[in-house]
Amino acid sequence: MGRIASNLAELRREIPEGVKLVAVSKFHPDAAVLAAYEAGQRRFGESRVQELLKKQETLPSDIEWHFIGHLQTNKVRQLMGRTALIESVDTEHLLDCIDRESERAGVVTRVLMQLHVAREETKYGFSPEELLQYFAERRFEQLRATHICGVMGMASNTDDLDRVRKDFRKIHEVFLALRDDQSLGLRGFDTVSMGMSGDWPIAVEEGATLIRIGTRIFGERDYS
Ligand SMILES: *Cc1c(COP(=O)(O)O)cnc(C)c1O
Repeated sequence: MGRIASNLAELRREIPEGVKLVAVSKFHPDAAVLAAYEAGQRRFGESRVQELLKKQETLPSDIEWHFIGHLQTNKVRQLMGRTALIESVDTEHLLDCIDRESERAGVVTRVLMQLHVAREETKYGFSPEELLQYFAERRFEQLRATHICGVMGMASNTDDLDRVRKDFRKIHEVFLALRDDQSLGLRGFDTVSMGMSGDWPIAVEEGATLIRIGTRIFGERDYS
């Protein structure tokens, strides 16, 4: 068994039932994706539009592609009908653009709302207050071709595991507040995407339903 297949097998033994795995293949070649595919993995994550489209062109058509990076509105059109889930909707402007382009393309796009709870200022996303307000004002009702399936977030990039746990807990709290608000009546709002190679066990303890793992499966990325 190759390294990627054995990494995946080991990970699958550790991940509890009911938690889905996105194999984050950004910056890794098609051969690496294929090795994971042949080991049974079908859900992959990419953070750049061109890279996702290029891989999709040549790799097996039953792969479910998740977009997980910062998405510029001028690239939205190219992604329509190409993703199982856009996990990184970080502004209302982007969401409205996705909705407009989805309608134009005659597709329904499934998305997650990205929350910013980490200490780093550079991370994208809605603050918890902004996201709660977006729903409280019922602005989601204007969407015609977009299905909001839940939330995505990242914890602070720190060795302070207490901080990491608090960040994940906050993301989950916001999710529950929205899911359990009967007056909103959200349907199919069931996904909490959080946890990466270094922190996924804590994310799962705090309620993740989807985890996004790259390095632990494929090894270090070569950004050069
Ligand atoms: C790159 C990336 C991951 C995977 O990170 P690893 O540490 O390699 O597991 C997960 N989520 C997002 C949003 C990413 O950009």
